[in-house]
Amino acid sequence: MALQSDLHKERVERRVKEQLPRLDPVALDELGMTQAECEDLERKLRGYIVLPGMPDYPAAAAPHAAPRWPAFPQLIAFCETPSDVRICLALAREKALWAVPRSGRHSLANYSTCSGMIIDVSLMNGISVDPIELTARVGAGANFGLLNAVLDGYGLHVPGGTCADVGVAGFMQGGGYGLTSRRFGINSDCVLAVTMMLADGTIVVADAERERDLWWAVRGGTGNQFGILLDITFKLVELPSVWSFELRWTVEDAPAALDAIQRGYMRDADNADVGYLVVMATIDSEPCLLMLGLYSGDPADGMRALRPLMDVGKPTFRDDTGTYNTLNDAVLAVLPGPGLPTTMEAKRSGYIATPVGVEGWKTLVDYFATTPNPYNIMVLEPYGAAPTAYPRGDSAFIHREVDCDFFVDSFWDPTWPDCDEETALTWLAGFFGVVQPFLNGEMYQNYPVRDLPDYREQYWGDAFPELLRIKQHYDPAGFFHFEQSITPPPPPS
Ligand SMILES: Cc1cc2nc3c(=O)[nH]c(=O)nc-3n(C[C@H](O)[C@H](O)[C@H](O)COP(=O)(O)OP(=O)(O)OC[C@H]3O[C@@H](n4cnc5c(N)ncnc54)[C@H](O)[C@@H]3O)c2cc1C
Repeated sequence: MALQSDLHKERVERRVKEQLPRLDPVALDELGMTQAECEDLERKLRGYIVLPGMPDYPAAAAPHAAPRWPAFPQLIAFCETPSDVRICLALAREKALWAVPRSGRHSLANYSTCSGMIIDVSLMNGISVDPIELTARVGAGANFGLLNAVLDGYGLHVPGGTCADVGVAGFMQGGGYGLTSRRFGINSDCVLAVTMMLADGTIVVADAERERDLWWAVRGGTGNQFGILLDITFKLVELPSVWSFELRWTVEDAPAALDAIQRGYMRDADNADVGYLVVMATIDSEPCLLMLGLYSGDPADGMRALRPLMDVGKPTFRDDTGTYNTLNDAVLAVLPGPGLPTTMEAKRSGYIATPVGVEGWKTLVDYFATTPNPYNIMVLEPYGAAPTAYPRGDSAFIHREVDCDFFVDSFWDPTWPDCDEETALTWLAGFFGVVQPFLNGEMYQNYPVRDLPDYREQYWGDAFPELLRIKQHYDPAGFFHFEQSITPPPPPS
């Protein structure tokens, strides 16, 4: 019987023979590597490499959706072990290749791709749960579909996002908001420790005791700043079941409902168990307001908590009971999605930190009704409760004293006659003109906007000088870099 190691060797040799027979000379030239060097790299890795011209290159290079900023990496390395990552980092240093890490591919600004090498960690997705200590050590390549499915088996939970394909690595490093965050916190607030490989291949473990400044910085400082995250240890909570609910108002009732939600269910810690999103969407050709949520307590208490909202206008109501893993997906299934591989998305966000009032909400609802396609959505992610209670200075995630994150998704597609890129972006800019008076100037770093001159201030505010010090300590040569790196601000012009 063949041993595991023999099987691996056989697989590698087959791959070298079948996949790397004659690499494109132009691609090799651009990469600065020979055919023999590529074959040698393939043999050294537990994972594998993909280069331009190989049949699986298009799929290996693609972000999660049609890219707004396409890039053509010269080498994609699918790493399976920390040694693979170290080999890739050494190669990038030797060949002076621009290298970026990639996990779930969901960067909204396509920051996990580049013209050099992608160090993909998606195969490093092992998860081990300690149900006694209530912790989980999660490989940086895991996504929330996998993590939630594993935790579901134990009745345990850590707040995650609304999309199963989002990677834990990118999500956590930018904060990470989900339907249970009001009760259990921003995802990065639940991190006990991280394991990270620095540019020189050193592995560091950072937690509240060791490398505390790195632990502080990684939780909100965003991905690709300090090193390559290998795994995250989360503190878990017990959550065997949740109660999901949907309240739906007509567009006429929407301003009063939004006002009632802002007054009673955002900063208010009394309703901390009510986790939810508020969405203006177009359903059955009609704009409407939805409150889509998960209650992490007894359903009867949940009904009582929502009672005041039932008297605002005439909402329709649906509910269900189940596990977080099933209902987190199901409660959002009502939202329309373009579902086309060619559709582009522009997202913009800002934090609301003052009362908007019924009149103010009406201006936003009225603006939403001018949407140039039926897929655009306006969303509120409410804070207060646990996100606000977490001490502001204890991590690099600064957005604490706010009512909610406000974001708008604006889509366009080449097959839509009435909504091209210019229409979609103009509509989005117009929306932010209307909401501007209510925003506090901060922006959620997990929804990055490329052309943002003051991203340092908007993502990190007064945490930035400390982040810069930590960046310069752990990555003094600026090996990890992209368009929104932690670098000294440019001198005033
Ligand atoms: C459809 C969709 C739904 C979303 N839903 C939510 C939501 O509900 N809540 C929320 O808060 N956010 C949400 N987001 C935003 C999401 O949190 C960010 O886009 C996040 O950065 C994605 O992480 P990723 O690992 O999937 O992405 P990637 O594109 O792989 O990585 C994102 C960034 O992290 C870096 N990175 C990746 N892996 C590593 C690593 N191992 N070490 C160091 N750096 C690394 C990359 O270089 C890149 O800069 C959503 C985004 C999309 C597209």
